[in-house]
Amino acid sequence: MTTRVYPFTAIVGQERLKRALLLNAVDPGLGGVLIRGQRGSGKSTAARALAALLPPIRVVRGCRFHCDPDRPTTWCSECQARAAAGEVFEVDVIPTPFVNLPLAATEERVVGTLDIERALQTGHRHFEPGLLAQANRGVLYIDEVNLLDDHLVDLLLDVAAMGVNYVEREGVSFQHPARFILIGSMNPEEGDLRPQLLDRFALVVQVEGLTDPHQRALVMERHLAFEQDPEGFYAQWRAAEDALRQRLMAARERLARVQHTPEDLLTIAGLTTAYDVEGHRADLVILRAARANAALEGRDAITAKDILLAAELALPHRIQRDPLEPVSFELEDLAAQMEKAQRHARRLRRMDDAAAQIQAKKAPPGPEPKPSR
Ligand SMILES: [Zn+2]
Repeated sequence: MTTRVYPFTAIVGQERLKRALLLNAVDPGLGGVLIRGQRGSGKSTAARALAALLPPIRVVRGCRFHCDPDRPTTWCSECQARAAAGEVFEVDVIPTPFVNLPLAATEERVVGTLDIERALQTGHRHFEPGLLAQANRGVLYIDEVNLLDDHLVDLLLDVAAMGVNYVEREGVSFQHPARFILIGSMNPEEGDLRPQLLDRFALVVQVEGLTDPHQRALVMERHLAFEQDPEGFYAQWRAAEDALRQRLMAARERLARVQHTPEDLLTIAGLTTAYDVEGHRADLVILRAARANAALEGRDAITAKDILLAAELALPHRIQRDPLEPVSFELEDLAAQMEKAQRHARRLRRMDDAAAQIQAKKAPPGPEPKPSR
């Protein structure tokens, strides 16, 4: 029996954190979350709670990488070989994996090891899976990611972006799927991440301690109740957890159908330009997060509110040039910039439409109309 995890829906406050995690659950390709906050602000509780909230997954029985029996294009080389040999897979259903990456983890422990000697002796590749294999289709959590070796963080972000773990040693290579939701946490007082690494986390949330005494009291009450009787506590939250899980699954289904307009894109572009954001990563993250948010809210089209909520999570770490000189990022300011960007986008659209009309008049599609007389 697995130990009970504190329910996601029982987390008091921290709305931005919960939203950032849920958006990644709706669109696991979004690119992860970095949670910044002091020790004891519930960062790891939230990450674990998300994994426990996610629906169980169907896996190929006997596969060390939890391959999805329903998606042959994502199979590992071992599953491909088994299928090619005519095997019909049995299916197991397992909880969504949660892997906690220890700070002391070596690169081999993370990516896995290729046994070259054995490969030379037997002629077969022998691969010992690492933590990335365990994390496939689950959640990979790195506590104190700012203290992890830069090279390892880089590697993890690469794999998270590609969805594949590729290992090569002395001309022998092995690869397996490694799609996971990357959640990092850090205490900024213990040193920051390099800006290049910061930018590669899709979303960043600053977790603040709750200031409302009633909310703090609620935190104490719930945590004590959970510690005393985890099963009983979970039973009280089961309905809420099930409802949110259903909502997530519906949102995943809906995601591909969510529409956005050219005006939405211009609004996002206007926003990132206004904040002088380098590169295009932020634009794409805002668009994807806005789409995920619309899906989560049960809508088929994104709205200005979706863009605003997405920008709130995607922009702060990308406009801070100098870590020692934090740029003030006020929500009111963001809302004002957003309105400006929307107005500008509408104007651009009208100009585009007008230009298209003129173009259409200049070059009519059919033969010249005869002058009516
Ligand atoms: Zn497999």
